[in-house]
Amino acid sequence: MSNTKLTSAQRDRGVGILVGAAAGDALGAGHEFNPPMKADLQIGMIGGGLGPFAPGEWTDDTSMAIAIAEIAATGADLRAEKSLDYIVERWHWWARTAKGIGNQTATVLSAAGKQGVSAVTAREESEALHRRTGRSAGNGSLMRTAPVALAYLHDEAALAQAARTISELTHFDPDAGDACVLWCTAIRHAVLTGELDVRIGLTHIDADRRGLWRARLAEAQERPPSAFTAANGWVVAALQAAWSAIATTPVPAEEPAAGAFRVGHLSRALEAAVRSGGDTDTVAAIAGGATRCGLRSLGCAMAVAARSQGLAGP
Ligand SMILES: [Mg+2]
Repeated sequence: MSNTKLTSAQRDRGVGILVGAAAGDALGAGHEFNPPMKADLQIGMIGGGLGPFAPGEWTDDTSMAIAIAEIAATGADLRAEKSLDYIVERWHWWARTAKGIGNQTATVLSAAGKQGVSAVTAREESEALHRRTGRSAGNGSLMRTAPVALAYLHDEAALAQAARTISELTHFDPDAGDACVLWCTAIRHAVLTGELDVRIGLTHIDADRRGLWRARLAEAQERPPSAFTAANGWVVAALQAAWSAIATTPVPAEEPAAGAFRVGHLSRALEAAVRSGGDTDTVAAIAGGATRCGLRSLGCAMAVAARSQGLAGP
C-alpha cells in the first residue's frame, strides 16, 4: 500500500478489497457457467466448479491479483518495467500448476514464455493475439485489478496509468484497459471516502469513448445482473454485471436486534453477482473488490451470511 497517511477506517477498507475479491471468487467458483439462478436460491461456498476447487478456495482471479498485491506491498511503482516484469514472471510461474486459467491469459503467457518471459514479451504477445483474432477484451484483466488501487491511494492519475498498463500485459483491447481504470479509480475513491461511484474515473477515459462508457454504466445501474449474463466473459458485460449486483441490491436497514446490518449488503451483492450465472467467480470477484466494506465489516457480513444459511449460532 502507498505510504499515504490513512485513517483506521481507510486502512480497514483497503484490507477489505483483496479479502472481498477473494470471498466473491470463492463464492462463485462452484457455480461457474450456471444459467441465471432464482432470486431466492441460497448461494453457498460449495467448491467444485472447473478446478475442481475446495469449498472456500479461490481461483485464478485472486491468484493473479495476489501477484500484483505482492509487488504493490513493497512500495514499488507498478508502472516501472521492473515491477511489470515481476508480475508477469509471477503469473507465468503460477500458471504452470494453476487449476484453472482464462484462455486469453493462458495464450499470452504461454507465448511470452517461449520468447523469454517478461513484460515486453507479454505486451508483444497480447498485441499479436489482438491483431490475429480481433478479440482481446476478455474479463481476465479486470478480475485481477483491484489491488492496483492500493498502490496509488495518493495519486489518481498515476493509478489510471498503472491500471491500464497492467491490463495491457495480457489484454490489448482498450475496453479492457478502460474497465480497469474505471474500477480501480472507483475502488480508490471508496477506500478514501467510503462512497462507491463507478463513474468517478470517467475523466481518465479518452474523450471519444467517455460517452459510450457513461451509457454502459447507466445501463448497468438500471438492469439486473442477469441482463449481462450471456456475454459476461466480455470485460464490459462483466463490469456491468458486477456494478449491477452492487447498485441494484438494496442496502439492508441497520437492525442489530434482528441480526441485520448495513454491511450485510456485501454478502447480498456477492450472492446477486453469483446468481446472475455465467462467469460467476469472476463477476463476484470483481464486485467483491469494490464493495467499500472494510475487513471488520466483511467479517460482520460473513457472519450474517453464515447465520442466514444456518451455519453458525445466533
Ligand atoms: Mg476464476
